[in-house]
Amino acid sequence: MGKSRRGHAIGFGALPLLAFAAIVFLSVQLFSMGALAPFARTFDEIRLGLSPQDPSGQILIVDIDARSLNEVGVWPWPRSYYADIIDRLLEGGAEEIAFDVDFSTRSTPYEDAVFASALERAEGKVSLATFHQDAIDAADGEAELIVNKPIDDFAQHIWPALVSVPIEQDGRVWRSLRGDLLEGEPVMALAALLAGVGGDLTQPFYIDYGIDPAGFKRISAVDILAERANLGVVAGKKVLIGASAQELRDLFSVPVHEVLPGAVIQALAAESLILGRDLKRAGGEFLLGLTVLLVFPILFCGRFDWKLRAALMVALSAGLEVGAMVLHETRPVLLQTEGAQVALLLLFGLMMAKQIGLVKILLRVSQIQTRNSRMVLGRVFEDSFDGILVVDSKAVIQIASRSAARILCAPVKAGQLARTCLPDEIYHEILEALTCCDDDTLQAKPREVHLKPADGTERIIEFVVTVSRQIATDLRFQRSQASERLATVTCRDVTDQRKATRRLAYLAGHDRVTGLINEASFSECVDAACAVPKENGRTFCIALIAVDGMDRIIASLGFSIRNHLRKALAERLDDAAETDAVIASVSENRLGLLISARSEEDILDQVHEVFEALSGDYTLTGSRIPVSISIGYALICGDVRDSSIPLRDAGNALSLAMRSGGNRVLRFEDVMHTALERRRTLEIELVGALQKHEIHVVYQPLVDLSSSTMIGVEALMRWEHNVLGFVSPAEFIPIAEESGRILELGGWILRQAMRDAMTWPAELRLAVNVSAVQFAAPGFIDVVRTALSETGFPASRLDLELTESLFVDERMDIGGTISALKALGCSLALDDFGTGYSSLGYIPRFPFSKIKIDKSFVDDVCSDEPSAAIVSSVVHLAESFGMTVVAEGIETEDQERKLRELGCDIGQGYLLGRPMQSIAIAERLRQAEAERLAQSECKLRQVV
Ligand code: C2E
Ligand code: CA
Ligand code: CA
Repeated sequence: MGKSRRGHAIGFGALPLLAFAAIVFLSVQLFSMGALAPFARTFDEIRLGLSPQDPSGQILIVDIDARSLNEVGVWPWPRSYYADIIDRLLEGGAEEIAFDVDFSTRSTPYEDAVFASALERAEGKVSLATFHQDAIDAADGEAELIVNKPIDDFAQHIWPALVSVPIEQDGRVWRSLRGDLLEGEPVMALAALLAGVGGDLTQPFYIDYGIDPAGFKRISAVDILAERANLGVVAGKKVLIGASAQELRDLFSVPVHEVLPGAVIQALAAESLILGRDLKRAGGEFLLGLTVLLVFPILFCGRFDWKLRAALMVALSAGLEVGAMVLHETRPVLLQTEGAQVALLLLFGLMMAKQIGLVKILLRVSQIQTRNSRMVLGRVFEDSFDGILVVDSKAVIQIASRSAARILCAPVKAGQLARTCLPDEIYHEILEALTCCDDDTLQAKPREVHLKPADGTERIIEFVVTVSRQIATDLRFQRSQASERLATVTCRDVTDQRKATRRLAYLAGHDRVTGLINEASFSECVDAACAVPKENGRTFCIALIAVDGMDRIIASLGFSIRNHLRKALAERLDDAAETDAVIASVSENRLGLLISARSEEDILDQVHEVFEALSGDYTLTGSRIPVSISIGYALICGDVRDSSIPLRDAGNALSLAMRSGGNRVLRFEDVMHTALERRRTLEIELVGALQKHEIHVVYQPLVDLSSSTMIGVEALMRWEHNVLGFVSPAEFIPIAEESGRILELGGWILRQAMRDAMTWPAELRLAVNVSAVQFAAPGFIDVVRTALSETGFPASRLDLELTESLFVDERMDIGGTISALKALGCSLALDDFGTGYSSLGYIPRFPFSKIKIDKSFVDDVCSDEPSAAIVSSVVHLAESFGMTVVAEGIETEDQERKLRELGCDIGQGYLLGRPMQSIAIAERLRQAEAERLAQSECKLRQVV
């Protein structure tokens, strides 16, 4: 009796405890090894999908979507665009901005500078993507960590934000990092930064994919750039900027939503943190233990029959899941039920095996499996995304998937001859595979075939042919077997993929406006030219081409003219250049040309032909624009390894050509290096020159020719460099003008000269040179006004010397400044008259009180009739307008006499006085005064 009761209670025969223990042990092992991960993921995904959540609304996504890519038309975007986006978002009141965009490499210095300054303006509200990836070191095969972080120019103004996401074994992104140690520095993850949480950076968490990605507010990036977006919605928001455009391939497989862009995953991770839904997986061991404890009495105690036991176990299993679901709804936990469920399943199976008989079950299972797998295989084959077809050794199609016919645009069916229905390329590949005698030499290489179906659109199909052997039973001889070769063709339509790749490659290598290749592609071509051995008699040449005075053209015709002009120039260049020349748009202002020829003369001819073709009139948007261009070129001679050298040389020659007036072709010579080097040195040294007291003023007398008395001085700047020695103003003033330093120097000399003049014992007129840059700069009037009031020098004694160049450019509005200076009480003098554009016509148009005739006329005034005639007519013209004439550079007494005869009022030159220190002027004045006194005393005595 006792024995039978025990048998009932245990439920199944003799080895129950042992089997129970074995299963529990197995379950624990499987669980702790992580072998149950696939089950776990299925449970987790179902739970996430069943508990939807709304995002908090704190995060807004600025989306670089397909429309943004299309409308902007280039990729990568110029960084100034991102700078614009930052400025506008901050204007709209965004609380912080995070970029899921790669800034780890440099772009052009200009674009980088614009972006850096936007970051600086943002005052720490911006974070930029940082990511790491494992790379296998080629040398030792070890994995090393490569860190991509924003370049240094940006790094100082931003927070680095880690955007790397771990990809799990199933190829999907389940978790997000909170941060990591990169090169010893802790870096927060973008999600943690956006959510504003700190804590233990090393703990990744599971993202709550129950949060609905469609619930995020989104703005298309291009709408911000085009100022179409309503930026009211960004106020107080955390803005995440990232790409969803498919072309950019920043897409990841995820649970619940299948595929999401990286930026959306970051947003979901941040939301998980904000909503306190940063999930963790837990409770596995506990549940496993609990289940074992509960199942034990079900199996071994009581007088249950097997159906009741089974029902209890099913109920326990369901209870576990319901409990896990409820917990997940209320707490950020994904309960690890997989261990418990697998243990339950195995125990259930064991019990059923005992009940039905294990062997029977196994048999049944294996039958079902075979049938299922056949069905599944059939389905997989039929529904496969790729087209699959199998061809036998007689080149007859045995089976073909439905997709094969669609992809190959042909009626591909079982039983048909491969030759009649497959494209030739595929058919030949099949034949080769079927007839190749050595299986090992056959390598399945993907190939491409281009199809033109009836609708006329070209399709690109990628296909691969593989061979397998089938053991065929010969029916007549039952036992004998022969092996038959089969060829399997797998094909897929890659048209869209290829198009997208081609388009991206095009965008990366071309300039959008002109359609020419851009700087990066041009450098590659130059690299290739550098690599060609020069013994084969060909010479290569790089020429850079720019429009002279582009700024002036834009100033008068508006910004949009630039693109029209660039396009027109590119077209003319394309026509003018030889067919084998490479033409490029290397920047907004420069075109590039790479030519090769048998001789240097030939190259010179080609360059000049281009120069002639591009110079001249252009008719654009209804206006006729006279355009002059400059070309700088450099030959690639000898063994040049680095394309940047000839590019730099051509650029230097171009700068020099433009600086020296433009409208010319200049070949790079080695001596330019020295000249450029000196220019660069002077430009740098000029920066601290004033503070180091290397700069001072000298004064050159202006003498009344009729009475020979000094009536004024011209202030001239001097630079005594402690190493380079004396540097002529004729050399450093143009450099100061170009670098903008002239504003500081010009302001200084005004004040210094007035201060000195106030110490002199007589009231002299003071002439100070003002360069066009200074004159056109805003605030010039204030500089003059404060200098006057600080020093107390009377404005009525001040002459500002301007050069002709200022008046030639009629588009420049100088009228206002001139009237304001007159209102202060200053006078204006026209300097270097006759050197520039020699037109007497504009003298009456401006209120000069003096005209200074250039030294070149004075030099010839005694020997050359035309020079004397010009001086004479200037004197008459000036007289009729009440202006005084000053002759510059008088070196001989003959010159002085002749000029006096011609009616010049005032003279300046080495004969009358060299430039001298302030105290020397004072001394000269004192002497003159003493002489005057002596003379009048003498006269007085004579009278007496
Ligand atoms: P500039 O305004 O035409 O000044 C006259 C130049 O002729 C001065 O050269 C002067 O030293 C020189 N000179 C005067 N008399 C004779 C002569 O009899 N024979 C010869 N051979 N030369 C004579 P400097 O001082 O070398 O200045 C050269 C130019 O640099 C000036 O030409 C002016 O355009 C510019 N410059 C000098 N100081 C300043 C300044 O403070 N501001 C600006 N914007 N430009 C300045
Ligand atoms: Ca002058
Ligand atoms: Ca002059």
